[in-house]
Parts: sequence; C-alpha cells; structure tokens
Amino acid sequence: MTEVETETRPTADQQTGEPVLQLEDVTKVYPGASPVVALDGAGFTIYRGDLVAIVGPSGSGKSTLLQMMGTLDRPTSGTVRIVGEDVATMTDKALAGLRALHIGFVFQQFFLAEHATALENVADGMLYSGVRRQERLSAAVAALDRVGLSHRIHHRPPQLSGGERQRVAIARALVGDPAIVLADEPTGNLDSVAGAAIFKLFKELNAEGTTIVMITHDRELAARLPRRIEVLDGRIVADVLAAQDPLNTERRLP
Ligand code: ADP
Repeated sequence: MTEVETETRPTADQQTGEPVLQLEDVTKVYPGASPVVALDGAGFTIYRGDLVAIVGPSGSGKSTLLQMMGTLDRPTSGTVRIVGEDVATMTDKALAGLRALHIGFVFQQFFLAEHATALENVADGMLYSGVRRQERLSAAVAALDRVGLSHRIHHRPPQLSGGERQRVAIARALVGDPAIVLADEPTGNLDSVAGAAIFKLFKELNAEGTTIVMITHDRELAARLPRRIEVLDGRIVADVLAAQDPLNTERRLP
C-alpha cells in the first residue's frame, strides 16, 4: 500500500494572496496502444506570493503538471485557471498571449540563444508583449540587475558559467513582471555551490513578491521551501506548509 501523507490545505488566514493559478481535478491521458494516465485528478491553488516546491519521483507526473500549469498543453479533463481565466475557453492564440503576459519559465537546460548577449536574451523575453525595443532593453537591464548580473550584460552564454546562465534565464522569466514563475528543476544542471546560489536567489525574489513554483526531485531542497506539493502516480498526495509540518521544524524558514 502506498503511504499517503495527511493532506494539509492552507487555511484562509495562512494564505492571504489571491489565487493566480488553479488546477481542479486535472487529468492527462497520453493516448497510444496502452494509454498512459500521467495525471489523475490533480488539484491545487497557487496564491500570489507563494514559493512552492512540487516534488515527486521520476515518472510521477511533474513535467506533465508543469505543462498544464504553464498552459503548454491542455488537460484531457478538468480545469486550469490562470489569474482566474479558464484556459479551456481560450483559442491557442489567446492562450499564447495570456502565457506571455502572466507566466515566466525557467528550465533546467536554460534555453538561451547562444549567439545573443545576456541583455538581448532577457529583452527577448518581452518580444510578444507589444513593448517597444528601447523599453524592452531598459527592462532587461533592470531584470539583470535583480539577479546580480549587471556586470555581465554584454556577455554571451558561452562566456558565462552555468550559474550565470541560469541567472540570465531567470531574468528573462522576470522581465515582463509575470504573475507566476514556473521553474523546472532549475538547479538540476548546476554544481552544488551554483545550485545553492540559485536557490537563494529564488528565495530573495519571492521575498520581494514574486510568486514561484519550482519542480524538483530533490526532497532536501523541497523541504526548505515554505510550501511543498507532493505528486505520486499523477495524484497530489500532500500539500504542506512548512510551518505546519512537524518534520520541517528545524528547516523552517526565518
Ligand atoms: P516526471 O516529470 O515526474 O518524471 P512525467 O510527467 O514526465 O513525470 O511523466 C508521467 C508519466 O507520463 C510517465 O509514465 C511518462 O512515461 C508518461 N509520459 C510523459 N510524457 C508522455 C508523452 N508525451 N507520451 C506518452 N507518455 C508520456
């Protein structure tokens, strides 16, 4: 029998921010000769100001969940709402607009344009926002400053360390001031020192008000975040606030 941790839903007084992302009874079935049920009735709400780890073993459905949260794919059934809007009612074009406006992505592999400078990479994060080039560039300078890379704005990815590349990718995710940042194993390609620095940066950005959801298979890392959602076999088996988690007492954030 699978051991299921008692689910602890945030109560209203603990979560005062408004919902920015809601999943209700989301199911995803990948068709084929033997269809795979990757998500099986997953549901949770991410509130403004949250810093959440989504944790689970390989194959549990984390990447599929990211696809649903990021509106990169549509669920087989169930509801996904971004800033209150049900994405099922939207055309692909409208959805792309909503995504560009409200969601910033950070991936394990960075996905930077190698020939472009840090500044250009970050400014390109606003390409579909309708903002003029000059404004995009000044927003990019500010975003690079937020991630501590003011001294590297004209460097190209091959001239940067792994940790610096991920900072550029984080600046690109932040530049349009999205409602939520979704990070998929953001420290997965970094050594432990660079990974710890990126982890610290996420905590600082969250303290400044950025809503962040981080997917990870690293339980140690997940335990150091204020909220942890656990996935197993496509289901949410725990949704825990650190302050309520007896196992977390010594790791609780200040
Ligand atoms: P995780 O990110 O936790 O490793 P995934 O979301 O990638 O989990 O996968 C969940 C399940 O769905 C796995 O059994 C995986 O093999 C399956 N899966 C993922 N993507 C596809 C796909 N495009 N087609 C078929 N099966 C898939």
